Amino acid sequence: MHFLNYWVYRNYKSDVANGAAFHYNSNQPRFHSKIELGETLWLVTGLRSNERMQYFLAARFVIRAKTHNPPNYKYGRFRLWADTQLSDYYVIGEADMTDVLLSLKFVPENPIKEGGVTIANSLQTFRYLSASDVALLEQWSKRLTPDVNIMKMVPELDVEETYERGKDALKDTLQMELPQLSDERKQEIVSGYRRNRTLVKRLNDMYIGRCQICAFDPITVYRVSAATAHHIHYLSRGGHDVLENLVLICPNHHAVIHGDDAVFDYESKKFMFSNGRQEPLVIKQHL
Ligand SMILES: [Zn+2]
Ligand SMILES: [Zn+2]
Repeated sequence: MHFLNYWVYRNYKSDVANGAAFHYNSNQPRFHSKIELGETLWLVTGLRSNERMQYFLAARFVIRAKTHNPPNYKYGRFRLWADTQLSDYYVIGEADMTDVLLSLKFVPENPIKEGGVTIANSLQTFRYLSASDVALLEQWSKRLTPDVNIMKMVPELDVEETYERGKDALKDTLQMELPQLSDERKQEIVSGYRRNRTLVKRLNDMYIGRCQICAFDPITVYRVSAATAHHIHYLSRGGHDVLENLVLICPNHHAVIHGDDAVFDYESKKFMFSNGRQEPLVIKQHL
């Protein structure tokens, strides 16, 4: 199935400026219960220009994972993750799609009425698209320019490695690799450097250097400290330097999580891999 939803421009914009590429957060439980992996979500946003609203296709997401955000996450409880290879963001402002939206039928049939409630309001509800609607949107999306700046993803391991090399290296990497991030966001990541060191030490003290997934315990067994801190929501994709966004894991788990781009579900406290494998945290006092 294909679905259509409205992305409030302000939220879309802050997502992009924070680096939350290929995520869609919401508070609608139906997003989790109705959308299956591999299905498509079309996201439309609206901008006011000269006293009237114009509507634009913001993204077409092919869903690869569904997770829960931490409790009280400000953009909603539910998170959909789009497949970065199969999904697209489009440059906003190229072509007003009001007429396309008004010609969509939906399932069950319930076209948007002109006048009365705004298009934006009538798209706030969860809508299934018919086959002809999908054909129309696909045709429409072909004339749009994919937004390469948003879709450019820097491997998080590069950011983590640059983190190790210090503030200036990090500034350069962010400037070159993630042009879509706002200056404030770049500043936040760079100035988080010192705080991050403190948080990593707290995690190491709390778990005595063990892996939270497999409990590998290099300190007891080898008297060697080997665990690494991992940002659950990548810094390069909108994550923050707070304790609830960090886990302490062994280098093997760190490598496979990044290699697979595995996601973490805050409700079940499991890492979810793309082949369906799920690995729970076996020690998790701080989450
Ligand atoms: Zn491990
Ligand atoms: Zn990591």
